[in-house]
Amino acid sequence: MSDYNMVTNTLLGVALGDALGVPVEFVSRIYLRANPIQDMTGFGTHNQPKGTWSDDSSLTFCLAESLSKNYDLEDIAQRFAKWFQEAYWTPHNEVFDVGGATSKAIHKIIQGVSPLNTGGTLERDNGNGALMRIIPLAFYLKDFEIADRFKIVQQVTSITHAHLRSVLCSFIYIEICIQLLSGENKKEAYYEAVYEVNDFCKGKKELEQECNHLKRVLNYLIQDIPEEKIYSSGYVVHSLEAAIWCWLKEASFSEAVLKAVNLGDDSDTTAAITGGLAGLTNKEPFPSNWLKDLVKKDEIIHLGNQLYKTYF
Ligand SMILES: [Mg+2]
Repeated sequence: MSDYNMVTNTLLGVALGDALGVPVEFVSRIYLRANPIQDMTGFGTHNQPKGTWSDDSSLTFCLAESLSKNYDLEDIAQRFAKWFQEAYWTPHNEVFDVGGATSKAIHKIIQGVSPLNTGGTLERDNGNGALMRIIPLAFYLKDFEIADRFKIVQQVTSITHAHLRSVLCSFIYIEICIQLLSGENKKEAYYEAVYEVNDFCKGKKELEQECNHLKRVLNYLIQDIPEEKIYSSGYVVHSLEAAIWCWLKEASFSEAVLKAVNLGDDSDTTAAITGGLAGLTNKEPFPSNWLKDLVKKDEIIHLGNQLYKTYF
């Protein structure tokens, strides 16, 4: 088996996007327009060396590792707690960034609360902290019926983000990935996933209500939105929209993740979410100097290969 299969490509895609964005997290789009990120850089916002990825990738790897054994919600939650308490799956044995909702939920996990009851349920709890780590679920769920796919996406999202809007965003993202795994090209995968999500939500009142917040994605409009109307805050709807937009518009992995980084604001997370999609669909080698700088690259590839062996 080659080191580079669609699973390792996906995990590397998340980590590369994340690492490109870490030095400019919270930097404005206006500043980045004048000083765009075009390559892997270091330091900046979090004062981390080149190739350092953040919480987005750490939690993605915790989920991937757990799924490479089997599906066990408690085990996933315990690995998140281990990341937080022991800096497990971190580049330099240090947790230097954690979102508010994730931190609150992990404290509950540590206190022994069931992961079914740890995520925030309020409308204001809809940050992008679950969407950014959800992509490994696509490999586990690819052969499930849609109702089971939704149920499991809901469980895993809700460990930290239990509002239905966060769940719907994860669900759309995973559905696109599953279409890609079945061999569809980018545009077809997006169209087919949106069709299936709309169909699944039809007649389910609470979900239909949440669909109203995702009209730009669910009405097939996203690729035609001008850049000034694409937002890159930490709100989960903004992150999903921005990631799909960058991925659909740009032909290559590098162009897609750099576009995401240079949208500014929550740069690392927008680029990690974009990088998952763009990594999954990437047919070219990743830029070799980016891979060379990526911290723990070999461990990430090993993890990808473990997960690949479990589900393919
Ligand atoms: Mg981050």
